Amino acid sequence: MTASPRQRLLLQYLEPAPVVDETDPQRLQDHLSGALDRLPVTDLALGWRLRPEVIDAIRSVIPDDVAVWRWVPVFVDSGTGRPADAHVAVGPSRRAPPPFGDMADFCFLCLDRDEVVEAGLERAVGLGQEIDAHGILLDRIRWHSPSQSPATELTCFCDHSRERAARDGLDLTRVAAELEGSVETLDGRRSMVTALLGRGGPGLVDDFLSWRSDTVTDVVARLSSGLRKAGLRSALDVFTPALTRSVGQDLRALAALGEWSKSMTYFDALGPASMPFELRGYATWLEEADDTDAAGFLADLLGFSAPGFGGRGPRLDALRREISRLSGSIGSDRSVVGVDAVEIAGVCEVDDSDLEARVGAIRDAGLGLSPCWELLFISGERIERLARVWDR
Ligand SMILES: [Zn+2]
Repeated sequence: MTASPRQRLLLQYLEPAPVVDETDPQRLQDHLSGALDRLPVTDLALGWRLRPEVIDAIRSVIPDDVAVWRWVPVFVDSGTGRPADAHVAVGPSRRAPPPFGDMADFCFLCLDRDEVVEAGLERAVGLGQEIDAHGILLDRIRWHSPSQSPATELTCFCDHSRERAARDGLDLTRVAAELEGSVETLDGRRSMVTALLGRGGPGLVDDFLSWRSDTVTDVVARLSSGLRKAGLRSALDVFTPALTRSVGQDLRALAALGEWSKSMTYFDALGPASMPFELRGYATWLEEADDTDAAGFLADLLGFSAPGFGGRGPRLDALRREISRLSGSIGSDRSVVGVDAVEIAGVCEVDDSDLEARVGAIRDAGLGLSPCWELLFISGERIERLARVWDR
């Protein structure tokens, strides 16, 4: 089965990094040209801090039939024109969770504040206009993932959020007390993880998770509407369905707000949003309370063997499960499955035949594909392989 001509293929290119700043614009242009020559790319999302000469070099080789998006991490403190530290989301003890790798791009802001939403919109519009983009790929439209320490890293419990919750009939002091109590027993921790993976209960924590999901939906609706007024479309970067509840992303509610949604369905990467990273975090937290079968417990919750716990066999089953959840909540024609395809030592090492099997399953299911998360770290040889599978 060949991918249909309209089956979406998204590339993301030039996430800010020292290597991007140090590479000659011509080389960046050549790498992109090579990929555009080989793959039937429909959409290209460009990173959020690009030198003008790089924008010019890249813009000049993009065919007219490729939609150009600006990739913007909206609700993190990226340093320029962002709200002050006072707007960083905090946990129940009023401390901000440590950002991954101490990186500002993983320092999540409080979505209960209008000024955060307004600043995010303004920044997205400016970045979109800078490259004359078709629209914005809205990334980090979520809360900080609590997977590394569920009881202390769920956010936000600032005074502003507490007041807003109280107006909606939710007492965040009681939620905080329940989180604190959950740490003490394995049953308490297992209940928490059950709620975070979207399998219900305990009641008060689950109410909190629903409330903060509604907040994300509301702020994305405001972003999407503001962008439309500025002549920009919206597309959404979201967690893989099995993990969305933990960061407040209700895929079904969000789907209508974007032209398409790209899931981070990552099996090999060891970083935020990837299944090995997020699920290992929960497993470690359970094991601290003497859980002897955390992997089995997670597999029962997920409905598939948790990636990151050894073995490659069940991975296609897990992917098919996620494809089915995406199709069910977003629709296959609006779903783009992000698979980790980069090669970065110690961060993401991918087996090519495994990657080909995943890409083939996505193609056959009729969903869009995004080889993730950064084209710069996908070799020309791997691009050839992806092209052969996608066009087979
Ligand atoms: Zn807050």
